[in-house]
Amino acid sequence: MMSNTALATPGEESLDTILTLPEKTGAIAIASACRDTALEFVNDAERWGKAELAMWLMGPYAQVTQYVPSATSRMRSEATRPIPLLREIDARMVDRVIRNARTEVLATLQRTMDPEGGASFAFSMLAAGFVVRCEDRQHVTGWVPTTDARRLADRVLSLLAADYLTRPTEYETDLSICGACTAVDFDGVSRLRGTCHRHGSGMFAPKSRRSTLPYMPEGA
Ligand SMILES: [Zn+2]
Repeated sequence: MMSNTALATPGEESLDTILTLPEKTGAIAIASACRDTALEFVNDAERWGKAELAMWLMGPYAQVTQYVPSATSRMRSEATRPIPLLREIDARMVDRVIRNARTEVLATLQRTMDPEGGASFAFSMLAAGFVVRCEDRQHVTGWVPTTDARRLADRVLSLLAADYLTRPTEYETDLSICGACTAVDFDGVSRLRGTCHRHGSGMFAPKSRRSTLPYMPEGA
């Protein structure tokens, strides 16, 4: 969609503008880094405090959002740095902010398992300017998150949107959310089972030592 860049006026802010990634930075590698960074939040943040959140924002999050030198983020750089965000948050509120963001991200991820829900998620992230199209030096196209997201949930979701737009089918076939512990993974077996490896391991394990499962059960 919208691949005709020749019509865009130089300097014009346009959805058609494709960001060229730096040398040796692959579009798929960025999608993977975005996914890993988002899953680190989703799967670990329940145990985080202010320090851990700050490290995530200034470390992996800052790494994957460094590629968009857009006019808006330059103008608003003071306002979009992670530090002011944290300064705004009272230490006692960090737990709640993390918990609410995680709940919102999980609910949104749940919707991306369905193609229609995924498309509407992607559209809202695009419309908000939280992701932009990119192309690497090998002409592989992908998506990168911007620094425009302000709410913690939106910051996490912008990473997932970049990954989703690059590899939507993995959300439709492999994305799994454990019914027992809400751990998020990309694993077709976990998805079918509805539980993560930790919680799924007991389900098909032999009840006694004599009983074994020589084959995977039909449809497992
Ligand atoms: Zn689990």
